[in-house]
Amino acid sequence: MMQAFRYILVGGGMAAAAAAEGIRQHDPQGTIGLFSQDRYPPYSRPPLSKGLWRGKRLETIWRYKDPAELGITEHLTETVAAIEPSAHRIRLADGRSFGYDRLLLATGGEPRRLPGDPAGVHYLRSLDNYLALFRLARGERFAVVGGGFIGAEIAAALRDQDKEVHMVFPEAAILERLLPEDLAQAVTGYYRDKGVGVASGLGVRAVRQADGQVSLSLSDGSELTVDAVVAGLGVQPRTELAEAAGLYVQDGVVVDRFGRTSDKDIYAAGDIARIPVPALSTSLRVEHEDNAVRRGRLAGANMAGAGEEALDAPLFYSDLFDLGFEAVGILDSKLETFAEWAEPYRRGVVYYHQDRQVRGVLNWNVWDQVPTARAALGTAFARPEDLKGRVPLG
Ligand code: NAP
Repeated sequence: MMQAFRYILVGGGMAAAAAAEGIRQHDPQGTIGLFSQDRYPPYSRPPLSKGLWRGKRLETIWRYKDPAELGITEHLTETVAAIEPSAHRIRLADGRSFGYDRLLLATGGEPRRLPGDPAGVHYLRSLDNYLALFRLARGERFAVVGGGFIGAEIAAALRDQDKEVHMVFPEAAILERLLPEDLAQAVTGYYRDKGVGVASGLGVRAVRQADGQVSLSLSDGSELTVDAVVAGLGVQPRTELAEAAGLYVQDGVVVDRFGRTSDKDIYAAGDIARIPVPALSTSLRVEHEDNAVRRGRLAGANMAGAGEEALDAPLFYSDLFDLGFEAVGILDSKLETFAEWAEPYRRGVVYYHQDRQVRGVLNWNVWDQVPTARAALGTAFARPEDLKGRVPLG
């Protein structure tokens, strides 16, 4: 007879772990089956590019201590091949099937790879990726390809270990897609001051491995030879299962304020979900921890019948040497911005706006002001100067 769970969680990341907690807050008994390709139970991902490099202990990253305590049956290293919504059942790659009443899709994202996926390039998505890179960290010279979150964070973490670090990315400046141009340039200057080599405006043409070293041929014809290469080139949301199951997908699995997809018994959360953000009258796909955890928990609670709505805009944050930020809403450097600095590029608030309405707020080394930043989202103003003081600089 086919085994069945009251709840099935497809994916074993932060969103799935949070969903299990959300379920348990409302249903102490219902059986939960978690299916994950990873060989580890759910863990926090942010420490892989930040805290673990700065002394945080590995045993602190687990999202729950004991699956039995939460009543979770873990199926690790398993691939879910299909979801059959009409039969309320999933099928694994090995042919086994499991039934469900309610299902969560939290399959996350797949790292984008360099063309041809050359050997010798590390990605930093999973705990095994981190462990492999950590072993190589005995080396002295590193190349970091990509100027986004992973690139910026791991370059800082390695440099803090006194490694020689060279960043290579196609944009003109670090975090260029996110930060206004002057701030992105200031951050890039700051990285150079910290001793990071920054090769901006360049791509990687070829990768060769020889004698334990890796050589990168760059688009300006130069060569960079290092002990190890780590790349952060963005992720592709893993929406194939949702698409094949006939769910509504539009750059992400579209969910409502309850975290529910176009099928009433299937929920989605984390990197794959396109979530409504009422404060901005739009929907977004958000690839950050706070979204995975809070919307994951909400989806779990609602799978167990809580009927809770999510209204807040997700938060995200980063640490880059001793610069750090918290942000809410849409941070897209193509939007217009207004900045109020207590100290230029070191402490201040940047408001991203469109049609005289605040779309995003970046608290740059300004802490404990996420609620005021959230309150500013979606508000109208007559002149950008009127935004001064909406978020106190502290
Ligand atoms: P990301 O922040 O989207 O940045 C990807 C970077 O790689 C971009 O600068 C992109 O440039 C560049 N790129 C793309 N193709 C390239 C190529 N062939 N050669 C060189 N550069 C290339 O993604 P990520 O840094 O890989 O991070 C992965 C995911 O984890 C993201 O979803 C991120 O949000 C999340 N994450 C979040 C945090 C945080 O919240 N603090 C920390 C780490 C990771 P173009 O834009 O020009 O394509």
